[in-house]
Amino acid sequence: IFHSSAMINSLRKLLFNIYIGFCCSEVILPKLSICSQFSVSSSYQSSEDPGAFAVATNGEPFPWYHLRLPNSVIPLHYDLFVHPNLTSLDFVASEMIEILVRDTTQFIILHCKDLEIMNATLQSEEDLRDKKPGKKLHVLSYPAHEQIALLVPEKLMADLRYYVAIDFQGKLANGFEGFYKSTYRTLHGETRIIAVTDFQPTQARMAFPCFDEPLFKANFSIKIRRESRHIALSNMPKVKTIELQGGLLEDHFATTVKMSTYLVAYIVCDFNSVSGTTSSGVKVSIYASPDKWNQMHYALQASLKLLDFYEKYFDINYPLPKLDLVAIPDFGPGAMENWGLITYRETSLLFDPRTSSVSDKMWITKVIAHELAHQWFGNLVTMEWWNDIWLNEGFANYMELISVNATYPELQFDDYFFDVCYAVITRDSLNSSRPISKPAETPTQIQEMFDAVSYNKGACILNMLKDFLGEEKFQEGIIHYLKKFSYRNAKNDDLWGSLSNSCLEGDFTSGGICYSDSQVKSDTLAFLEENKIKEMMTTWTLQKGIPLVVVKQDGCSLSIQQERFLEGVFKEDPEWRALQERFLWHIPLTYSTSSSNTIHRHILKSKTDTLDLAEKTTWVKFNVDSNGYYLVHYEGHGWDQLITQLNQNHTLLRPKDRIGLIHDAFQLVSAGRMTLDKALNLTRYLQHETSSPILLKGLSYLELLYHMMDRRNISDVSENLKRYLLWYFKQMIDTQSWSDEGSAWDRMLRSVLLRLACELGHAPCIQKATELFSQWMESSGKLNIPTDVLKIVYSVGAQTTAGWNYLLEQYELSVSSAEKNKILYALSTSRHQEKLVKLIELGMEGKVIKTQDLAALIHAIARNPKGQQLVWNFVRANWTDLLKKFDLGSFAMRTIISSTTSFFSSKDELQEVKQFFESLSAQGSHLDIFQIVLETITKNIKWLEKNLPTLRTWLLVNI
Ligand SMILES: [Zn+2]
Repeated sequence: IFHSSAMINSLRKLLFNIYIGFCCSEVILPKLSICSQFSVSSSYQSSEDPGAFAVATNGEPFPWYHLRLPNSVIPLHYDLFVHPNLTSLDFVASEMIEILVRDTTQFIILHCKDLEIMNATLQSEEDLRDKKPGKKLHVLSYPAHEQIALLVPEKLMADLRYYVAIDFQGKLANGFEGFYKSTYRTLHGETRIIAVTDFQPTQARMAFPCFDEPLFKANFSIKIRRESRHIALSNMPKVKTIELQGGLLEDHFATTVKMSTYLVAYIVCDFNSVSGTTSSGVKVSIYASPDKWNQMHYALQASLKLLDFYEKYFDINYPLPKLDLVAIPDFGPGAMENWGLITYRETSLLFDPRTSSVSDKMWITKVIAHELAHQWFGNLVTMEWWNDIWLNEGFANYMELISVNATYPELQFDDYFFDVCYAVITRDSLNSSRPISKPAETPTQIQEMFDAVSYNKGACILNMLKDFLGEEKFQEGIIHYLKKFSYRNAKNDDLWGSLSNSCLEGDFTSGGICYSDSQVKSDTLAFLEENKIKEMMTTWTLQKGIPLVVVKQDGCSLSIQQERFLEGVFKEDPEWRALQERFLWHIPLTYSTSSSNTIHRHILKSKTDTLDLAEKTTWVKFNVDSNGYYLVHYEGHGWDQLITQLNQNHTLLRPKDRIGLIHDAFQLVSAGRMTLDKALNLTRYLQHETSSPILLKGLSYLELLYHMMDRRNISDVSENLKRYLLWYFKQMIDTQSWSDEGSAWDRMLRSVLLRLACELGHAPCIQKATELFSQWMESSGKLNIPTDVLKIVYSVGAQTTAGWNYLLEQYELSVSSAEKNKILYALSTSRHQEKLVKLIELGMEGKVIKTQDLAALIHAIARNPKGQQLVWNFVRANWTDLLKKFDLGSFAMRTIISSTTSFFSSKDELQEVKQFFESLSAQGSHLDIFQIVLETITKNIKWLEKNLPTLRTWLLVNI
């Protein structure tokens, strides 16, 4: 699954699931079991009491009271038949599950949610051979655990195979989970319906009764019945189509490889496609609704390149004959890696040459790279349980870096990767963070695992390990891991094992090292021989938080010390010491000095250590190229020496080190370890900086300060900051062209600089944007505006009522989701409350503005100082209605909560938010994000108290 947890600016990056409670009828019709579920988390909490017993919906005892299924029965093969009716919006279906009994038992427990079971029978192998009819099974339903029990008349015997046949039916869901309905509008204004699945993590059970846990891998043979105006797609290619009486068609798909239930997928739609073939002969196709044909070509080119790359890199061929990538008009997450049938939001797959910007291209490339990586990490080798979801998501995020760098070097994806790490550090610096590996049992808890810690921190610690082991050794290790665990499941330890000993069978080994391994660095080799990878990496996966390395130079001696880095809790605070206890990391340190470019390495395993320098140097810089997941603080004159160097000749420090210095300095300010004026002084060298990613980083911190002041109405400071920004970056702003020219990062810098200039009211910027907007309106939306400035032009245009109304009209008409996103963002920047209210109403209604875009809309309005209070009031007043649209633990709900609250910075606001969360918890709705938000607000309050006077003075001196 793809989701970005960096809660930053853009609408593109938001994704989520929806939850609609299927009203659970207590009245069970005779012979029918309805496995449906009404309440979410609360019913899960108390259910693991060993003394407890479960009661089925009909009052009979339910034979199983655990959330996880028993191991007594395992599935081998599913024959699944589905017939959706896109007019009546329901489906009838049947399945035959071949099971293997491990331990003699009298019941079979399956997951099942919101489905109506019509009939269930059981055959033994003998029955099947002799064509004897199945024995009828008694079905009990336990909705609180989303389970059904099939009670068998006679015991099922160990080591024997049986066949369970179930007839069932259901409604196409209204949300984004299970087997659900999606709609799109044609150019001619006609609304069409399609049916699509999305199962991760626990929603396959909404489409067919199954063993819905990642460990229960099986083969699937799928048949889909459809009308002739539609097509059907599934994980595997179609082997035949049968024509039925009445004109219906039935597609039979080839049997899948062995895989987990959450990767099963099927779609009934009327989409068009473009196709190509990889060098190894895999047919790759991009599907989208018929009017979007011209937006599919970039995705095809990118997926062909990336699939070729991965096959070589992993040394394992993609095992299926085809791969389809489908743009779904209504989709919860950004994308989902179903094996052979990857589903995407339109914005994550479709590149419209007329309206997609360079950052849209970056995003699409990244998401395709992510989902293709999952075909190996996740699909071929799957985590045993959701507590280790980082093995899927951390790896997929990390592989984006490797594969996009190799296939699209012009995108300079390296520089994008910083934000992957920086986005999670803010969260990981709070006490409420969590370890990468963490128990998760209920569906809500499992959903909450899909967060920045699994995705971003996972990717960052893998990148750190790669830097430590060396690229080649690391690659060998993961190839070993993928080969060893193909079609199986793995745990953390399995990965560390494979990385410690990456010898493949046939290699001569000695002391855990492959004989053929000649290129490994000697220090790494010594480390590997001790087989310490697991020991090192568990300090990063089982321990929450991020370390701060404090360095003090004394002549040729460096004293280094590690502590847990905390933002919002200062070293002088009484609770600081207790929060440090028992935290210790094995940190693979790297450093370089002013006198040599050599990269020195040292593993810091204890709280303190000393290092000797070969010669006297003016400065030392730790965390070379910012590959390590730790922050560095230089005590004494350390920072001053580095700042002096930046001002004298910044090119003596590596570009990635310059980004790291800017980042660490501002984080240290938040931790109360550095004064704000020092961090600001560090940015004063930026007028000589020529690297766009670095300029963007520096600019982002200054902009953040501006927004903070603007929101709080501290107008003397915000006005001065505005003047400072426009003055300091004036030359850069004024030399920007309103075009799509230049390298990827120059284009991104242009978008940010011009957006900021217009937001800050820079007259030439507003004038140019207004001009382009009028021309665009006069051309009835036909004029091509350079894509990188499109959002800026729309945003300036949205400030007049006529412009705003015209944009809303165009929003409805546009068939480019890239354009729609830009328009929606522009509409959300209006200063008129009634317009913002109108947007929220449209978002709640879900027609003009799709429900899938509601969380992004709320996020965008919350970013607008004129809208922040509005959405906060709205969320509180409409909480129940929001919960009818989205699952409590979904990314959408978490986005809605955090985007409307985390910018608060006063004690009154903190109190207000606290009360709201307490009232939710009292109703049984609890999320980890509540604590994260409260800590964030507390941190903001402390930040202001400590740094506002400094900022005020610094601006007066520096303007
Ligand atoms: Zn993913």
